[in-house]
Amino acid sequence: MNFHDSEKMAGLLALKGLTEAREEKDADLIIFNTCSIREKAEQKFMSELGRLKFLKRKRPHLKIIVSGCTAQQMGEELFKRAPFVDFLIGPQNLSAIENLFLEEGRGVSFLGDNPALAETELPALRKEKPKAWVSIMFGCDNFCSYCIVPYTRGREVSRPSRNIINEITGLAREGFREVTLLGQNVNSYRSDTDFPGLLERIHLIEGIERIRFVTSHPRDLSDDLMRVMSQNKKICEHIHLPLQSGSDGILQAMNRGYTYSLYKEKVDKIRKAMPRIAITTDIIAGFPGETDEDHRATLRALEELRYDGIFAFRYSPRPGTPASKMKEQVFQEIKQARLTEVLALQDGITSQKNKALEGTIEEVLVEGMSAQSIKELTGAVKELTGRTRTNKAVNFEGSLSLIGETLKVRITEGKRHSLKGEIYKEQAF
Ligand code: SAH
Ligand code: SF4
Repeated sequence: MNFHDSEKMAGLLALKGLTEAREEKDADLIIFNTCSIREKAEQKFMSELGRLKFLKRKRPHLKIIVSGCTAQQMGEELFKRAPFVDFLIGPQNLSAIENLFLEEGRGVSFLGDNPALAETELPALRKEKPKAWVSIMFGCDNFCSYCIVPYTRGREVSRPSRNIINEITGLAREGFREVTLLGQNVNSYRSDTDFPGLLERIHLIEGIERIRFVTSHPRDLSDDLMRVMSQNKKICEHIHLPLQSGSDGILQAMNRGYTYSLYKEKVDKIRKAMPRIAITTDIIAGFPGETDEDHRATLRALEELRYDGIFAFRYSPRPGTPASKMKEQVFQEIKQARLTEVLALQDGITSQKNKALEGTIEEVLVEGMSAQSIKELTGAVKELTGRTRTNKAVNFEGSLSLIGETLKVRITEGKRHSLKGEIYKEQAF
């Protein structure tokens, strides 16, 4: 979501005639688009920002903007901690960036609630085809007890469906082939249609071959959505369905609104509707009050559900959230030990799942050169990278002209975090 917010700010600045500087030392404007979901992201930003103090001393006309959730959360306090910052822009006020050049002086902030957000069209500057991110809604009303998003991104609002359709139709014309619809809880999208209805309309757009979306809240994953996913071929067989914990007591303390058995029922149902579907999740280790037994419930859940992949994090107390005030905070070492255990268990499952794909033929949309090929730019043979419909990365040899094409690739090796393959057919359809 942050990455796409940056594309929107870049788009607005490009309309004002600004272009990207080649190096930091040549820049007249530096924007930090920050994330405050966990403390680590925030610390990283603060140390990067500190470094710029000296650059600003050398180049006094350099303007520094802090945007995103840390700007929203720290507010004017940031000016006190880093007086060389010129402007603050919260995630609901990205469009303010186009007026900054009219602002006199410094120390100006744009952090208010923005009720017009859903109607505001921002021209994103997308550099890389064939995949595009598209916002369908903003904010979140769920108030999971650990999460800062509802405080920084504000109330949930959905973009009108015609604006979304127009944007995606334009992307298809420009040559984009895949869209990922973005929202903190896409299943509660609501305008003149609901989320399944929106998917059906996007499905009709010529030129778009793949549709993905993040994130689905398990509580709101409806039968209707499962039906639409299984009946519309362009919707990829992947769902990111954050579980957070396998313990009912912890899920309740997190204010997630489901029990483990309810979650599992939905997983069973969606696997029945789409047998090939890949399911990924998020796990938080060491939420306040989490006992060893709760932790083991999470491990059992991972064994039982056999995800294709997970993102797991140590619980990080966020200012102002109910969980940060809970008494039974878990020691850092225990959080780390539990996280390590969660990741090790899942690594084994992911490897087994990837290994099981060896010998199969997968449809792959080619995205570009693999990281290895980019490192070895002089190499004659290029290694390309793309994703299966189930969102697994595959690397294989091929010519650069294939970027943007959908191919059939035979999987030759299932590794821990990616697949290796060889081209089977240069046309998937
Ligand atoms: N809207 C999405 C997720 C947004 S944040 C959803 O509800 O699934 C992405 C992930 O960060 C969350 O799923 C959660 O696992 C993690 N996360 C959020 N707040 C956190 C915190 N305070 N500490 C650790 N992890 C956190
Ligand atoms: Fe945060 Fe929960 Fe909203 Fe996701 S659904 S953004 S975890 S409050």
